[in-house]
Amino acid sequence: MISPLMPNYARSELAFERGEGSWLVTADGRRVLDFGSGIAVNSLGHAHPHLVEVLTEQAKKLWHVSNLHQVPDGDRLARRLVDATFADSVLFCNSGAEANEGAIKMARKYHAVRGEENRFRIITFEGAFHGRTLATIAAGGQKKYLEGFGPKVEGFDQVPFGDHEALEAMIGPDTAALMIEPIQGEGGLRVVSNEELRYLRELCDKHGLLLILDEVQSGVGRTGKLFAHEWAGIEPDIMSIAKGIGGGFPLGAVLAVEKCAANFTPGTHGTTFGGNPLAMAVGNAVLDIVLAPGFLDDVQRKSLLLKQKLASVADRHPKIFDEVRGFGLLTGLHCVVANTEVAAELRKENLLSVPAGDNALRLIPPLTVTDEEIGLAVDRLETAARHLEAGLVRGAAE
Ligand SMILES: *Cc1c(COP(=O)(O)O)cnc(C)c1O
Repeated sequence: MISPLMPNYARSELAFERGEGSWLVTADGRRVLDFGSGIAVNSLGHAHPHLVEVLTEQAKKLWHVSNLHQVPDGDRLARRLVDATFADSVLFCNSGAEANEGAIKMARKYHAVRGEENRFRIITFEGAFHGRTLATIAAGGQKKYLEGFGPKVEGFDQVPFGDHEALEAMIGPDTAALMIEPIQGEGGLRVVSNEELRYLRELCDKHGLLLILDEVQSGVGRTGKLFAHEWAGIEPDIMSIAKGIGGGFPLGAVLAVEKCAANFTPGTHGTTFGGNPLAMAVGNAVLDIVLAPGFLDDVQRKSLLLKQKLASVADRHPKIFDEVRGFGLLTGLHCVVANTEVAAELRKENLLSVPAGDNALRLIPPLTVTDEEIGLAVDRLETAARHLEAGLVRGAAE
């Protein structure tokens, strides 16, 4: 018989009761080091005192009023995001997929108001992940997510990752935008180089296309800058964010330049829960920490530390890992054995990771992770690799 919870997730055996920083604790007291962060969501770890305080204070005052009324904390959060980024204006929503839906609609609207209704096609890249709604699975273009859900939403063209010839050939009079993740998270920790991002920006300018960056996973400090594209010195026209900005509270946003955002006039787009006072309070609290002087510098330093340690683990265990991947604290390893098997072995060592596409394994600790915790995680990775190797030897002997 079916479980009351729908069977659409392959969950681990673990159930946690509480969290403290980089740690999760089960009801019977087992402490697990969290290098998964709820898939890059718990950017400041679990139960961060500032977030807890802000959320509980807000919870006593006001949760939701809808977008029929002013939400002063939303104005403030939008202002802070505008001040810190390329954007001129911000739209709040509740998830990454919803942010991407907003970004896609905004790109189409931009051309439509200029009398080019037919210019609605968006070029995306193989291995992309943009969410699970009908439009975002069409944007992601992955067969396993599209199958069985009827006709693919029209208007998405996909090209191979890094193939300039295919990309330029795909651009036509109906092309509205390019949409890309600066680092493919779900797709297997594939990093778009700074040169590549600059090339994409130039290509968009040349053809009058909008550049949409999906920073749902790579944003909000993950790479040691507020947003990953800053490393390339370019600016998108539209950017979707979610995951880390809420620190565990459901929150997404579309950031855009004025020429795009200005077309979202009253009645064009909306969401009931988007930007509610609880979410806005938490979003502001996350920025209080992430934008504090020195915070992102420290993320950069810790990223290098983790990367160096991962490289030495990969060197010592070539039968298990063959490459360090990713950038910043959105990092991990490409596995030789099945990534899910490695993740299961790591759970036995009380370390959480997140499998990704292309047999990669993500290590995405909270941005607040300590040097000691990085050392501990790598020790556990080392132990798991040794166990997996012993298993390979046993398997060969049988
Ligand atoms: C997680 C993710 C999404 C989807 O976010 P949801 O909140 O699950 O809808 C979209 N894009 C990227 C890059 C992601 O990592």
